[in-house]
Amino acid sequence: MIQLVRGFKDILPPETTVWQSIEDTARRHFENFGFREIRPPVLEQAALFQRSIGEHTDIVEKEMYTFAGSRDTLLTLRPEATASVVRAYIQHKIYAADPAARFYTIGPMFRKERPQKGRYRQFYQINAEVFGVDSPYMDAQLIYMCMTFFRRLSVSGLQVHLNSLGCPECRPAFRQKLSEMLAGRAENLCPDCLRRLEKNPLRVLDCKVPACREAVADAPSMLDFLCDDCGQHFRTVQAALADMDIDFQIDPRLVRGLDYYTRTAFEIQTSELGAQNAVAGGGRYDQLVEMLGGPAQPAIGFAIGLDRLVELFAAKFPAPETGPDVFFLPMGEAARERAAKWSSQLADAGVRVEADFSGRSLKALMRRADRMGAARVLIVGDQELAENKAVLRDMKTRDQVAVPMDRLVAFISEHVGR
Ligand code: ATP
Ligand code: MG
Repeated sequence: MIQLVRGFKDILPPETTVWQSIEDTARRHFENFGFREIRPPVLEQAALFQRSIGEHTDIVEKEMYTFAGSRDTLLTLRPEATASVVRAYIQHKIYAADPAARFYTIGPMFRKERPQKGRYRQFYQINAEVFGVDSPYMDAQLIYMCMTFFRRLSVSGLQVHLNSLGCPECRPAFRQKLSEMLAGRAENLCPDCLRRLEKNPLRVLDCKVPACREAVADAPSMLDFLCDDCGQHFRTVQAALADMDIDFQIDPRLVRGLDYYTRTAFEIQTSELGAQNAVAGGGRYDQLVEMLGGPAQPAIGFAIGLDRLVELFAAKFPAPETGPDVFFLPMGEAARERAAKWSSQLADAGVRVEADFSGRSLKALMRRADRMGAARVLIVGDQELAENKAVLRDMKTRDQVAVPMDRLVAFISEHVGR
């Protein structure tokens, strides 16, 4: 039998109901904050990600699913959504119509990482992106929106980790200083970090290898290098968060795995998922729109890891088995014929209904009704047809009512309609 590809997974009912309710909550919550949904495709030109995420990042170096398209273009299954949203923003000149556009998107991402708990090769994100606003109040509001979303889901125990990565004015001096320090400790660094040291020394700061962590324990902090504007911006973000009662922790080691971030960077972490502790990450990317060929427009966004969020949520609120409001048990061919029509009409009228056409015994069907968590069963046999009334039984209370068959659809709609 052909099996799933390693690192990929099926999401089955009843777990899908958890996904649906989280996604519905995200839509409602984000739309309250003025965000509208955008749905870019999952396939883009490889160049889009190479240019935006950066050549010397784990994602671009080794995690992308890239293959040949037509006419020599390389295509990539998106490893993240921001680049696509930025491309769409530029391509459709959205900046001309709306100088402060806010978008969210929900969908799958693809990264060829080593599969493990909380880490898949196809995983899902909820993204939010804001264009055209450089105010630090936007940064604070975005983090507030993210944290209150988790609160709405009653997911607690989350910490906001916050840092500033500066800007092209002030970051080079920090980078220089950090490189010098790390070069003096090269013998302690892992092979990956030795490469990073050359190309992207900031990434050494968030390497998980213990020896590397030790090597950077007393590394300089970007916060000591922020220029006046970046310093003021960062202080205002913090003050605004405090004013909104959002707790946060300054984390000068937080650099994020993508090159395009500037100024505010943040991650939302939990202690309940083991090694894969980041539930969301984001930050400002004030240069990216211009870098990808658009006008100079500041921007900020975040991505929530939906798979990890579902895991946190489902640990507390297991998916309920949601059976039909009414389960039809027709006994005999004539009853099945009636059940087919009535159950169809009822479903169309907004009642959750299912009819069993298998022809199995009443006992077997009652067992099935129990298993699926049906709220009521409707038993229709030859005798009921002859007497023009069927029996509607409540599975919990065992109460029964006789339903007049000639107005069955109207009767049940009134009784159990939502
Ligand atoms: P991590 O440090 O866990 O690798 P990341 O920094 O690579 O995360 P981002 O690119 O910032 O992740 O994506 C945002 C969120 O998406 C993460 O916080 C995480 O919850 C989720 N995520 C990232 N990669 C995966 C994956 N392979 N499987 C499941 N969720 C993921
Ligand atoms: Mg990662």
